[in-house]
Amino acid sequence: MIPTYIIAIGDELLYGQTLNTNAHSLSKMMTDVGFKVIKHISIADDKQTILDTLEQMAKVAKVVLITGGLGPTKDDITKKTFAEYFNVGMRRDENVLKHVQSLFESRGRMMTQLNQAQADVPTNCKVIHNALGTAPGMWFEKDGCVFISMPGVPYETKNIMQQEAIPRLIEFFKPPFIVHKKIQTVGVPESMLAQNIEEWENNLPPHIGLAYLPHLGRVTLRLTSEGKDKQKIEKELEEQVKKVLPLLQEAVYGLDDETLEGVVANLLKEKKFTLGIAESCTGGHTARTFTQNEGASQFFEGGIIAYSNDVKMKILGVKLDTIVKYGAVSQQTALEMAEGVRKTLGTKIGIATTGVAGTGGGTDEKPVGTIWIAYSDENETVAKTYQLTKNRNLNIQLTTNAVLNLLRKKLIKI
Ligand code: AMP
Ligand code: MG
Repeated sequence: MIPTYIIAIGDELLYGQTLNTNAHSLSKMMTDVGFKVIKHISIADDKQTILDTLEQMAKVAKVVLITGGLGPTKDDITKKTFAEYFNVGMRRDENVLKHVQSLFESRGRMMTQLNQAQADVPTNCKVIHNALGTAPGMWFEKDGCVFISMPGVPYETKNIMQQEAIPRLIEFFKPPFIVHKKIQTVGVPESMLAQNIEEWENNLPPHIGLAYLPHLGRVTLRLTSEGKDKQKIEKELEEQVKKVLPLLQEAVYGLDDETLEGVVANLLKEKKFTLGIAESCTGGHTARTFTQNEGASQFFEGGIIAYSNDVKMKILGVKLDTIVKYGAVSQQTALEMAEGVRKTLGTKIGIATTGVAGTGGGTDEKPVGTIWIAYSDENETVAKTYQLTKNRNLNIQLTTNAVLNLLRKKLIKI
């Protein structure tokens, strides 16, 4: 195991003004190539805090990735602090200076003294080329631990990692391969999944890790193993996946990075079915979920955001009687909306959502989170109800998921 620590430096992170996306992207990149990320740390642009953190890291880490604090202005002090930490002076790097000059020329801008100082680096570092910006990356070594300092601007950081830092780190440490296999499930809570696969899980060899990752009504089961022989690990994980799939049955919608909307879209395309959507409580979110992916036009005819009762009646043909008798959030209204949109748009399948998304609008009989969704094709029109959460945004996303899952279950049977 090669313990890796990721430090983000910048006052803006601690004020809550900037989200530390570098921790996320660096973690993913390092994990993908076999390094074990142990900790993310965010700290201020403060000399003593940076020194203390470097000191602590040197005791436990093999790799320390540091982003931020490399700008040309006085508030950015990472470079000087590194020189102090290693007790070295600074030198001007001619290659970096030429690169900074060429960047300024290409942008038609004048260089200042501050910009020239971007080419100054601590004497003990190896420079890492930053093709997209003026602040170079820096590679330091101390007692077998590698420190890499990079600018904070996310696209520069990513590019330095991909082009320069990762190839050098792999060469230096020769890390093992870490392989993940993911099983994507929907509609079954993690506790119930765990119960269904308990025996299989208990019999997993100790070097294979299993994680349950719940997210919006879906649960990803992630199997992880590491070693020097990538093919052998992959084969072993695939065999475990094969064993567990029959225990999970219909809950599984895909493997690895497949998405629920992608799987449903593929089913619709394969079967050459068209889809129309009538949305009340989801306000377009369901249609957006389908249309965010390329190729949606092959099956998606259109959507009607039928938010008011008027639109439900005028465009979808929901009966006034139905709304008066049962209300807009009801099984009957959902059924008429789904059938209505199918007929209005002339599609093979119609889908409808209606519910109390919240935060207001709940009653004793229909509290916030009461949702109806309906499905209609030429053979049947059916509806299902859910009692979701008190959070409006979450309810909208969970409803879209429920729609996707209902569609998926219907489509695998037709
Ligand atoms: P710096 O290298 O400190 O001059 O950072 C330049 C800019 O990059 C900052 O103003 C932020 O907008 C952004 N930035 C710095 N650190 C991070 C981080 N950890 N995650 C995302 N953006 C960052
Ligand atoms: Mg900064």
